[in-house]
Amino acid sequence: MHYISVTDLKTQYKTQSGIVHAVDDVSFFLEKGESIGIAGESACGKSTLGLCIMRSLQGGNVVSGDILFEGKSIIKIQEPEFTKKYRWKEITMIFQGAMNSLDPVFTIEQQLHEILRQHNYTGDFSAKASETLISVGLNSSVLKKFPHELSGGMKQRIVIAMALLLNPKFVIADEPTTALDVLVQAQIINLLKKLKKDGMSIMLITHDLAIISEIAEKIGVMYGGKMVEFGNSSEIYKNPKHPYTQGLLESIPSLKENKKPKFIRGNPPSLINPSEGCRFYERCPHAMEKCKNEPPKIKTDSGYVLCWLYE
Ligand code: SF4
Repeated sequence: MHYISVTDLKTQYKTQSGIVHAVDDVSFFLEKGESIGIAGESACGKSTLGLCIMRSLQGGNVVSGDILFEGKSIIKIQEPEFTKKYRWKEITMIFQGAMNSLDPVFTIEQQLHEILRQHNYTGDFSAKASETLISVGLNSSVLKKFPHELSGGMKQRIVIAMALLLNPKFVIADEPTTALDVLVQAQIINLLKKLKKDGMSIMLITHDLAIISEIAEKIGVMYGGKMVEFGNSSEIYKNPKHPYTQGLLESIPSLKENKKPKFIRGNPPSLINPSEGCRFYERCPHAMEKCKNEPPKIKTDSGYVLCWLYE
């Protein structure tokens, strides 16, 4: 039994233009204490995947598949049970856009206390808020401040503290370093590493493969709603199999090697009525006739790849 396993998950949004197949047959697993990086371009379905696990999808539906957390299906249980036992207590999320997600008219203390109140916390609110702030490297004097009085890095730490208030075991961090300068990014990465060292499992959603390599043992590369490659990060960084993963890694500039980064030609596919065939077909330098059909799921040493090249 894996700590977390997602099996054949399909999630769709109904829109006026048609059904958006945002997450399509995605599978992966994670062991206790491990972390996974979910990588891919914008609108590839990575945030939707995180929201499915948090059961916080707005306007979308999980149409099939399963998510098991410590062996229990968390999409089949009733909403009151999920709210009472899992959301924020076992599984939590650092939402995208920390800079704008704090309420400007309440102090940090009021916002932290509100979370404790909503989740029926029975301990000392002030002690819990101070203790959590200290755990993310902030002084408790921040409690009396309003968001506009804080720097971008401090706000990101507050949002992380909010997610950690109830001592969860699994954190989904959606683009936690986007829009931060490189020094603050490094501080946030170090904070995530510390959480991991303390035993927390993290699902890191990002377009930045360099950050994943710092934190995660596993990686899932998403493209057009599909997880096109999944496995151990060390294996995938050393020997990426899917042409899209190869393209992503080749697009990272290197200060050490004197070679220009490459780019992937073309644009991602529409997720409304996507083709039955490989979603990367239009952009793939190795595309073959049979790629117009559904690509096979080929087992690799530590996961799988969706590509006819490895049949
Ligand atoms: Fe390229 Fe074909 Fe593999 Fe898709 S299945 S990534 S088109 S080679």
